[in-house]
Amino acid sequence: MKKIKLFDLSRQYSRLKPTLESKISRVLATGQYIMGKNVIAFEKNVSKYLSTKNAVTCNSGTDALIMALRSLDIGQGDEIITTPFTYFSTIETILLVGAEPVFVDIDPKTFNIDTAKIEQKITKKTKAILGVHIFGHPYEAKEVKKICKKYKIKMIEDCAQSFGASIDKKQTGTFGDIGCFSFFPTKNLGCAGDGGMMITDNSQLANKARMLRNHGGIQRNVHNLIGYNSRLDEIQAVILLEKLKLVTKLNKDRIKIAREYHQSINNDKVVTPSNFNNVNHIYHQYTLIVDNRVKFTDYLSKSNIPFGIYYPKPAYMQPAVKKRMGGLPKLKVTEEICKKCVSIPMFPELTKKEINIIISVINDY
Ligand SMILES: *Cc1c(COP(=O)(O)O)cnc(C)c1O
Repeated sequence: MKKIKLFDLSRQYSRLKPTLESKISRVLATGQYIMGKNVIAFEKNVSKYLSTKNAVTCNSGTDALIMALRSLDIGQGDEIITTPFTYFSTIETILLVGAEPVFVDIDPKTFNIDTAKIEQKITKKTKAILGVHIFGHPYEAKEVKKICKKYKIKMIEDCAQSFGASIDKKQTGTFGDIGCFSFFPTKNLGCAGDGGMMITDNSQLANKARMLRNHGGIQRNVHNLIGYNSRLDEIQAVILLEKLKLVTKLNKDRIKIAREYHQSINNDKVVTPSNFNNVNHIYHQYTLIVDNRVKFTDYLSKSNIPFGIYYPKPAYMQPAVKKRMGGLPKLKVTEEICKKCVSIPMFPELTKKEINIIISVINDY
């Protein structure tokens, strides 16, 4: 048997190969490569899928976050409440627009921002709450929205890992002012390069986002804002159009694998992630908690089971963030989870046989 991989995109590609190759060839033949009719079609279809009024595609999830912050006029002197348990990009973008991240500890069960600890961090400078639906598990977006309303601050959702996740059937990304997505190849909806998107029901914000992604203007030779070159290309758009048709099924397959892991991993030394009835967790990652991670991961390596550590450090411990911030917070739950988390293989094309091997190795630990 071939070695199990942490993530294997080639399996998905072999399923889609005939369709994708013919569609890509057609794009190549048209000679129109950037923001053409496929981008328009994708924006239309994805808005419908997520039930949002506007989808504005761009070059990456990172750019989506930057432009979301800028669309909301967030910059120098503003404080943004966020989670330290995330990919660096979330924090990087806050710092890039000149704002200050204010870190709130996480809930050890969901690894998401701890809603109960948000209000104590709100000051006069707080401009927004930027939550992350980490690993595809929706954070408490409804409750966070109530806090935002109470203090008249903005809400941005980082949905880079949560495409298709929902709370009471409402999609992540549609609770706040703007939702930001990434189509990086390994995300639940991924293209074959970099890609991203902002969604919003507010047409004024969408308009601003559309300007920002294209050098600050919509009309040719009119630049209303200092913007970016951050457009989606046609090849990525045809790929995304095809994969959008599949994403419900792909997410269901992930959930099925998660259920198998959940039911069959049975070892006192290993804690499996929790799910809750009213949230549709789409398992971008399946993350275990173990006390002695070095010992456990050595064991996995010896047994040929690949793993990932997301995330080994709270974002505030990254050298670049440390340099920028005055005093560093000390958030106990995050620091403990960073020491104990281990993600095991999770992608829709994992085979039954592979899943069973992974389960039995973990149970034998
Ligand atoms: C991947 C990711 C991003 C960044 O997306 P890119 O498309 O890689 O720029 C931002 N936030 C989170 C939580 C992510 O996982």
